[in-house]
Amino acid sequence: YYNQDTILYYNGEYLKAAEAKTDLYSQTLHYGYGVFEGIRSYRTESGETRIFKAVEHYERLKASAEALNLPYSWSTDELIEATYEVLKRNDLQNAYIRPLVFAPANMGFNPNTESNIVIAVWEMGLFLGEKNLRVMTSPWQRPNPLGFKIQAKATGHYVNSILASQDAKAKGFDEALLLDMSGHVAEGPGANMFFEKDGIVYTPSLGNILPGITRATVIEMCEELGIKVEEKKITPAELRSADSAFFCGTAAEVVGFESIDDYIFPQPWENSIGKKLQKLYKAKVTEAGVAVS
Ligand code: PMP
Repeated sequence: YYNQDTILYYNGEYLKAAEAKTDLYSQTLHYGYGVFEGIRSYRTESGETRIFKAVEHYERLKASAEALNLPYSWSTDELIEATYEVLKRNDLQNAYIRPLVFAPANMGFNPNTESNIVIAVWEMGLFLGEKNLRVMTSPWQRPNPLGFKIQAKATGHYVNSILASQDAKAKGFDEALLLDMSGHVAEGPGANMFFEKDGIVYTPSLGNILPGITRATVIEMCEELGIKVEEKKITPAELRSADSAFFCGTAAEVVGFESIDDYIFPQPWENSIGKKLQKLYKAKVTEAGVAVS
């Protein structure tokens, strides 16, 4: 992710990663009480660097911080500007961008008067690879929304993601799919899920999932293509009768499912709506002259 010379944006300064210091008593490090984002920038067809959906990501970062009562003193505009500057200083156009808002030293549970922010950038391939995935229904459920602000991208939530993903891989699968506390399909450890049945696209409604920015883009693209999308509660049995399915997320983009458990999706990926959306997404993120968000 970095070498000694990687430049970070850290609390208003541009620093070499090797010179940046943090406090080992940070409340975030001990209790998982912090928020972050996962963003991508692309070199567009006309050669400039563009952060895809920059405003949406930084607005979600702010909303995540507010949901957790973490002080947040930055404007979206200043963070977008800082991100372009970090990209430039690291000479990156196609990059993964990781802003993290973390707490100062605090070994109790009391609120803080300020937070820290770091923005790191690095080159990263597709998070879940290029090939269609063999997905396992996880025995791990997504966190109960009565116990967590599940709509926030909080660091601590990713204990659940790591457990589920490691478990699926240990059992020979590529990735996990988690159900919510009522047994409905929720999402992957780091991506939202859609499936196609009889020409209609379905995805779990909001409430038990991260409100993905790529999920919103996929819904918009379906509207552009005249494809009907339904957001609803989805049972594992419905998914097992689908024609095709896919994950989507900033890091993963759009990636198809080969199978869920022992059910192989019958629709050849090449003919699926997911494939169309995958191609359109790739075109959209690198399109010249499109608004920043
Ligand atoms: N769900 C979870 C749990 C995630 O971590 C992510 C990645 N941020 C997503 C969904 C997809 O969200 P987005 O499209 O905003 O990257």
